[in-house]
Amino acid sequence: MSCTSTRIFRHEALTMLKIFEVIRRSGPIAQVEISRRLNITRTAVNTYVQKLVKEGVVYSASQCRVGVGRPQTLLDIHRDENGAIGFSVDYPYVHVGISNFAEEIIASQCTDVSAVTTREDLEQYIVAAARAMKAAAAREKVTLHSTCFATAGALDGVTGKVTKAVNFPATQDLDAQGLLSPLLRTPVYVVPSTVATYWGGLTDEDEDCRVFHVIWDIGVGTILGTGTDIRLSNFQRDPDGIGRGLRDMGHVIYKPGGRKCHCDEHGCLEAYFGGWAMIRDLQEAEGGKNSLSFLDFLARAKANDAHVRDLIVSRGRELGSVLGWIFTAHKPCRIKLSGRVADVGSWVFDAFCDGIRQRLGTQDLDKIFAPAWVTPTNELQLSGACRLATHVRFNLPLLPIVRMAEDVDELTDAVVQMP
Ligand SMILES: [Zn+2]
Repeated sequence: MSCTSTRIFRHEALTMLKIFEVIRRSGPIAQVEISRRLNITRTAVNTYVQKLVKEGVVYSASQCRVGVGRPQTLLDIHRDENGAIGFSVDYPYVHVGISNFAEEIIASQCTDVSAVTTREDLEQYIVAAARAMKAAAAREKVTLHSTCFATAGALDGVTGKVTKAVNFPATQDLDAQGLLSPLLRTPVYVVPSTVATYWGGLTDEDEDCRVFHVIWDIGVGTILGTGTDIRLSNFQRDPDGIGRGLRDMGHVIYKPGGRKCHCDEHGCLEAYFGGWAMIRDLQEAEGGKNSLSFLDFLARAKANDAHVRDLIVSRGRELGSVLGWIFTAHKPCRIKLSGRVADVGSWVFDAFCDGIRQRLGTQDLDKIFAPAWVTPTNELQLSGACRLATHVRFNLPLLPIVRMAEDVDELTDAVVQMP
């Protein structure tokens, strides 16, 4: 595929998405008004609208006469009767929900699967959750159009199958599309958890804003975007190695030749800042050999355990300092912090911001990056997955965008040059 065709594809998908969103938010609305709001020609708007009408989502609601011109057809969407399913399978939960086209979550269910060790067992939880949602949709009289399945790890570019589990070993080789399509009878789109978190954190004011979303969880993830236009950072060093497809900043080299990471490289950022790394450090410091679970670690932090709190605060400052340098190169207009470590309390976010201030030598962080603590992550992932399910369904070309990594040159350079 040539570069040019990809770009046109991407551009068209985003235009269609924007039109869908304007109708969803502001319908009933005339084409001329959509054209004005998005600064797109009326001919172009009409082409995309016809596609959406053909899909059966957008319909002509009514006609109105503006001045002496021809009557205008107003376009709208049936919000209450249409829905999409969002799955977030990210250690330690299977979280599923249905949202209608008004973006209201009308049913949801969250199961702790931290004790699950095999894919077969995990699949049973996923199937049970899917059945529960199907029943809820029938009860609420909602037509399900699509399903978005968000999970962590490296995903096959075509099928979405988990080719390398990272945070949750039981997801290894999980084929959500194969498992759920026959059951739910909707298309099933598989995306990385970071993408769902990013979309869950999107708000209206972000449409033209460069967002740098940091997800501090059992690992460390980052995702960049401008409104709904996502660019996954591509930091894999060896395209054929075991880390293939691990397109995440958690695996940039923080200390060359340093600690071994679960991706088999040494000195990754995540090997020092990830939840799993902090647990290891805590256990070493406490001389204990018991294996502390991630949930136990978080519970201790929430209960104000001094050891855990001090550890998170010092790592949070350091993480802010490391990333602070990258922010100056990337120049986002908004920085967001999510993740289960961040969920523990606003003091985690404060420590992270302190680190950025330290690195930048400025107190006035709000004016530069408008940092935001966006939690709880579980809810973000669910609402993001639901939102993606709605959008991807009508914007198939969007799928390769959300699944495919794209090089972000200036950022990669920033990492290479990081002092
Ligand atoms: Zn790594």
